[in-house]
This record gives sequence, C-alpha cells and structure tokens, in this order.
Amino acid sequence: MRVVFLGTGTSQGIPVIGNDHPVCHSTDTRDKRLRTSVYLETDELNLVIDTGPDFRQQMLSNNIQRVDAVLYTHEHSDHVAGFDDIRPFNFKQKTDMPMYGDIRVCNALRRSFPYAFETENKYPGAPGAILNEIENKPFSIGGLEVLPIEVMHMNLPVLGYRIKDFTYITDAKSIADQELEKIKGSKVLVLNALRKEIHYSHFNLEEALKIVEKTKPERAYFVHISHLLGFHKEVSRELPENVFLAYDGLNINV
Ligand SMILES: [Zn+2]
Ligand SMILES: [Zn+2]
Repeated sequence: MRVVFLGTGTSQGIPVIGNDHPVCHSTDTRDKRLRTSVYLETDELNLVIDTGPDFRQQMLSNNIQRVDAVLYTHEHSDHVAGFDDIRPFNFKQKTDMPMYGDIRVCNALRRSFPYAFETENKYPGAPGAILNEIENKPFSIGGLEVLPIEVMHMNLPVLGYRIKDFTYITDAKSIADQELEKIKGSKVLVLNALRKEIHYSHFNLEEALKIVEKTKPERAYFVHISHLLGFHKEVSRELPENVFLAYDGLNINV
C-alpha cells in the first residue's frame, strides 16, 4: 500500500496567516504544512481520509488521478471544508463519491453542504456524494477491510481507521484501552502531535510518544502539527529512531 501525506499541519496550517513565529518564516519546505489528510493506494482501491480546506491543492500537487472513496474522521472544518472539490472526480469517474463517517459526521455534512444532498431539483454541477453511516465496527469498501478506532478529541468522539497494517489517527486527546488494542500489530501508526505544551483536545508530543510506546508499531509518523512544535529538522532529531514527523508530500510504502 502506498501512503501519501497530503497535509500534516494543524487547523491553521503553517505558516499561520499574519504570524511572525520563526517556524512560519522557515525556508525548509518540510515546515510548510497544509491541513492534515492522507491518500492511500491499495490493491483494492484508492481512498482519501478527510477532505480539508487544502484538498484541491493537495490533489493537484500530488498528481492524484483517482479517488474511489472518502473516509471522514470528524466534522471539524479543517477535515471537511474541501468537500466540494470532489467534483472533478465525480465528472471524471462519472459516479457519486462514496463517503464513510459516523451518523453525527454524516448529518454535519448534510447540514454544511445541503445542495449536494437535494433529492429534487438538485443543481446540476453540485457535488455527488453517497453517505455511508458507519459505526465503530469493521466494514468493507469494495473488498477492502476497514477497522474504525474511536478516539476522544476532548469530549468529541472521532474515528481513526486501521487498514491492513496501517493505522491513521488524528485529533485525539485520549484513547480507551480497548481501542488501543486495535492498533497493536500495526506496522505504521500515524498519530496527531500538536506541540510540546499540553493542549485540551490534542496529544502533545510527549502524549503521542506514550501511545507509540504502548502500541509498539514498527514505525510512527506524527501529523496535525502546529508551528509551536518547532522546526521539523530540530524536533526530528529529538525523536526515537522509529518515530518521524511526517511532512507534506511524504510517500511511504506499508
Ligand atoms: Zn483537526
Ligand atoms: Zn478536530
């Protein structure tokens, strides 16, 4: 499976608008972070987890030709705001886009993008999406098995996903023991790590490292990174040898 890190930044991205922090002025391209999302190319199909506000730019800069399904983690704008830009795939693939999320997320999409879900007199150019309401139990998309993992984003339940040996979790602040069990045995774990200071709704670096210790993946990649975490190059040097800061455009094989 090929994994492309489409974006690795927190909700504001890096650089932050109007911000004078040194990381926002870094000339290292790895310090430029679009909003967090990944693209997965499996034997069965190609999918994207979340369509944040940078979705269009991410599809273009990574030359993504086909998306067969979208998995949603939660309804925050930095994870859904690019919803409309599935339209080129609607036109090219001549089909509505299958999307997967829990009932709360599906309802939020219906509220935020009502024109996509009109049953009568739908505007012809509107996005085409088929919402599949999932629960926290295994499901399959075209023969690809997906295992949801529920994590808590302060008090908001968010779904992470395990696909084969790859587990993707973003916007977590805590993970219950029975959900941690589902991660064990993953070769690659992607996890959010916002900054060094404690935060009310995201793991900081130390908390993310503790989850890696508990679940023991072969490799871990951190995403949803704030400028406050520091320079990519400097923070990378502080990490254990199997833990990496992801960066935009990074491709890995799992
Ligand atoms: Zn987020
Ligand atoms: Zn969020």
